[in-house]
Amino acid sequence: MNRDRRITREELKNAIHEAYISLKDNKGGRNADYIPYLANVDSNLFGISVCLPNGEILSAGDCDYRFGIESISKVATAILILRDYGGETVMKMIGADATGMPFNSILAILLENDHPSTPLVNAGAISAVSMVRPVGNSRGKWEAIKSYIAELCGSETPLIEELYNSESESNHRNRSIAWLLKSYNRIYDEPEIALDLYTRQCSLGVTAKQLSIMAATIACGGYNPVTKREVFPKRQSAKAVSLMATVGMYEHTGDWMFSVGIPAKSGVGGGIIGVLPGIFGIAAFAPPIDKAGNSVKAQLAIRQIMERLNLNIFSGERVVVVDGKSS
Ligand code: GLN
Repeated sequence: MNRDRRITREELKNAIHEAYISLKDNKGGRNADYIPYLANVDSNLFGISVCLPNGEILSAGDCDYRFGIESISKVATAILILRDYGGETVMKMIGADATGMPFNSILAILLENDHPSTPLVNAGAISAVSMVRPVGNSRGKWEAIKSYIAELCGSETPLIEELYNSESESNHRNRSIAWLLKSYNRIYDEPEIALDLYTRQCSLGVTAKQLSIMAATIACGGYNPVTKREVFPKRQSAKAVSLMATVGMYEHTGDWMFSVGIPAKSGVGGGIIGVLPGIFGIAAFAPPIDKAGNSVKAQLAIRQIMERLNLNIFSGERVVVVDGKSS
């Protein structure tokens, strides 16, 4: 008996299109304003992109607009250190627990008893960047991060200089996180190098299409379905997905997993990626965010598509997207 449930390309395409049409005029949320550049991005931009395991991309809306990757870059650096150090070491040096608190929480670091918790919040991400090799060599580390994000996304993701300058001038809180972690011996390089590289990686410009390719690469166990290159070993993709499932939407992650059922990661630039292992990678983008820093429209879009197609990572169902008629 064939237990796979088949969804047709057409059904998926329609679900994306309908989500786009029904949400495009939604005015919920506000652009992030603690980083001046982000406050000035057009709030009406909206795009949805899905990348399938065969490399095909289905999109609606502003999927070629380049915006700040922000915290979605944390997933990439997490995978980079998982690849280079292995899961056990990453657990020991950073951790993998949800904080249940805002992404830039200092209290979370104190409560965790000196531990940055997870590479997907600011503290853990700054710590992760400090582990990127070659340690101590800022230029080499930047090359490693930048080229790795390009590998995941299938093409170059140029730095948005204006965003980088804007973030560098306003990242006082992250600076205190970096130095606090230094005092706990959780910075494995220089705090100022780690802070700068973290700020830079957040300022890389990506499109929703590129992010859907990154999500699909994780969904395909490290194999980029567009470039056909193996970007990281299969066993690390389950680790990356587990990090997303526990903390990818910050203090709303439990609610998100319960109600939508897809491991996801947001960025304050308005992007969200979602990973359904073996099925597809999805990305949605719309600048206005909620109080936790998650794009309002991108959340609704992913939710609507998941519901419409009856998808949920916890369903235990094997789903394939096929051409032709559904069964
Ligand atoms: N660069 C942002 C910061 O550190 C990223 C935050 C986010 O996207 N949640 O505050």
